[in-house]
Amino acid sequence: MTVHHQATAPAAQPDEEFRARLREFLAEHHPGRPPKDPRERLAWTKAWLATSFDNGYAGPSWPREFGGMELSFAQQVVYHEEVARARVPGPLGTGLGIAAPTIIRYGTQEQKQRWLAPMLRGDTVWAQGYSEPGAGSDLPSLRTTARRAGEEYIVNGQKVWTSHAADADIFFALVRTGTRESRQKGITYLVIDAHAPGVQVRPLRDLTGGHLFAEVFFDDVRVPVEMRIGEENDGWRLARTSLGHERAAGALNQAEMYRRVLTELEELARERGQLADALVRDRFVDLEIRVRVIRYNAERTIAGILARGAAGAASSISRLLITSFEQDIHEFAVDLLGPAGLLGKSAPQAVQRSRWLVGFLRTRASTIGAGTREIQLNTVAEQVLGLPHDPGMPPR
Ligand SMILES: Cc1cc2nc3c(=O)[nH]c(=O)nc-3n(C[C@H](O)[C@H](O)[C@H](O)COP(=O)(O)OP(=O)(O)OC[C@H]3O[C@@H](n4cnc5c(N)ncnc54)[C@H](O)[C@@H]3O)c2cc1C
Repeated sequence: MTVHHQATAPAAQPDEEFRARLREFLAEHHPGRPPKDPRERLAWTKAWLATSFDNGYAGPSWPREFGGMELSFAQQVVYHEEVARARVPGPLGTGLGIAAPTIIRYGTQEQKQRWLAPMLRGDTVWAQGYSEPGAGSDLPSLRTTARRAGEEYIVNGQKVWTSHAADADIFFALVRTGTRESRQKGITYLVIDAHAPGVQVRPLRDLTGGHLFAEVFFDDVRVPVEMRIGEENDGWRLARTSLGHERAAGALNQAEMYRRVLTELEELARERGQLADALVRDRFVDLEIRVRVIRYNAERTIAGILARGAAGAASSISRLLITSFEQDIHEFAVDLLGPAGLLGKSAPQAVQRSRWLVGFLRTRASTIGAGTREIQLNTVAEQVLGLPHDPGMPPR
């Protein structure tokens, strides 16, 4: 079976010149293969982010004022294609996709100057402190409190599932400044120094054996008032903006990455002589159609951000498409490989250092993080199909 890459619209000449320049930069400065040791890998990633930033190749959609590239939509597409193809490390933490758009839109000039460029350069790693043991999908029930004391807030409580918390320098958190019953009307958006006294991070082990996320405890942590984004008790409105961008930001890059992963799986199946099986080919055709749909939907999402300044509901559709695709492709890969596909990477007969097994385990969480599949389906039902609002959720 031959897989043809989808035809893209003919690009204007300047975009092709940009592609050539970017490709040259990526080839010349490519950081090579990632080190195995997590500490070394972190330093390796930071070094790459600094190189990209210093050479003017970071933040494709960010304003130039804060070190970004301010690219046209066509050039952002080129950027994500080339970066995904080059296999260079992606951003660290969750700040770029979620906190940065909020700071750009609602932060003071001083906050923008202070936080944005170091985040983009990888000098500071930001992690998202929203979820709590009793507040996930129903985030307005969060209970971590911030009590105003003069020019400071005193923060107490617990966050959970905080991705990259162990590497974080800064948490962007939602905290309760209103009464306990105030729900979304009493929530404030606060930026908290991860190294401040009273902050404790306890890593949690995930299915793959890694420690992607952690529990974070705040015990009388003092946070200066100038670390608040927007007004007190107005954090819910701000958080809703950033969530939309979170879903949208990675969509195009992921579309490119999965385009490549599918081709790699097909090559593996060909080497193993499995493409002779009509049922296997049928599964590949299904995945091929889906990977193309993901790409077109990602373009639609980004076009919406550029045209209206908001990702809109198309971003929820992207997330649904990508998360079910990544679960299905890894499940299919593990099925194809049979018992050998279940071997850990230290086993001599492990296939491709067990990448498919690790992917299978890792993607079990894809339909939970950044909003569960059910919550995404609710969003599509209400915002795209116009069905009645879920009475259990806060009003829009
Ligand atoms: C890999 C990963 C990384 C994460 N990273 C972060 C992070 O960096 N920062 C952070 O703050 N959080 C993070 N999270 C937490 C994530 O946002 C929450 O797990 C998610 O919002 C679900 O919340 P919950 O776990 O409390 O489940 P619950 O909200 O308790 O949901 C339990 C079940 O009920 C369903 N459900 C709940 N409400 C409804 C409804 N109204 N309609 C239909 N079904 C419903 C859910 O879909 C789910 O199946 C991460 C989670 C994962 C898995």
